[in-house]
Amino acid sequence: MAVTIGIDVGGTKIAAGVVDDAGKVIARRQIATAAMHPTAVVAGIVKVAQELNAAAPGTTGIGIGAAGLIDGANGVVLSAPNIAWENVPLRQMVADRIDLPVVIDNDANVAAWGEALYGAGKGYGDQIMLTVGTGIGGGIIIGGQIYRGSHGVGAELGHMIVDASGPSECPCGNHGCLEAMASGNSIGRRARERASEPGAAAVLERAGRDGAAITGELVGEAAKAGDVWARALVTETGRWLGVGIANVVNIFDPSAVIIAGGAAAGTGELLLGPARDAAAERIIGHAWRKLPPVLPAALGYDAGLVGAAALARAIS
Ligand SMILES: [Zn+2]
Repeated sequence: MAVTIGIDVGGTKIAAGVVDDAGKVIARRQIATAAMHPTAVVAGIVKVAQELNAAAPGTTGIGIGAAGLIDGANGVVLSAPNIAWENVPLRQMVADRIDLPVVIDNDANVAAWGEALYGAGKGYGDQIMLTVGTGIGGGIIIGGQIYRGSHGVGAELGHMIVDASGPSECPCGNHGCLEAMASGNSIGRRARERASEPGAAAVLERAGRDGAAITGELVGEAAKAGDVWARALVTETGRWLGVGIANVVNIFDPSAVIIAGGAAAGTGELLLGPARDAAAERIIGHAWRKLPPVLPAALGYDAGLVGAAALARAIS
């Protein structure tokens, strides 16, 4: 049985696994990277890859997904702010230590690829994935391939601008990016701004009565528990997400839109329901098409490593 190694490199951990050709993870390794020096993260990647390679004879390649701007053609991480990498020739650094072909790509791209092959997007053709976590990432699958753009750094769907003249600044410096309006962090920001409202009492209680300590996660938990004020915030955020979904549907006409990420998983239909409603109101061509399925992701945190492993299968 041909197996490959998939490695998902994030700001807080390296999650790696040996994956078979059905997308099943048959061995795992994980290491925390939070306080690591950038070169130690590379050493950590090599270490887990060597361990997994030893544990699974017959491994034919290594796929790595990393959060940041990736030049996949040259195997270089151009910029990964969470890990403090700049122009790191990651593919060569790993290939120098392990005698296997290595491919690297953006973390959202590989997660979209994993969901398309083995998760919620399986059986759909062209599809778009939005990862709604603390920020918003994106992946575009067109014609059975990951779409990367002319510099390899496209599909930054979280930075489509949906409220250009609005007050919300995005970490990228623009105003009104989808990430600034519909991410988990944006839920927390809205809640903190309105923490003095009478309805905020239950959420404030969860934050130890400190308005500045309210997070999107706390709001999501309160919303799930039925708190009306928290639900209104999640609904508002979901409607902004729907504006972003309408944009990608109008541009790409996909067969499905997959919604992944911790903030989406934590709020479920409380976020997705309003998102679908707001998107359906805005898609063009109502007369001859409906909003495509907007589906929660199915692979959870495994999507990245499973997708990275699948990419490695294609090169090995
Ligand atoms: Zn932005």
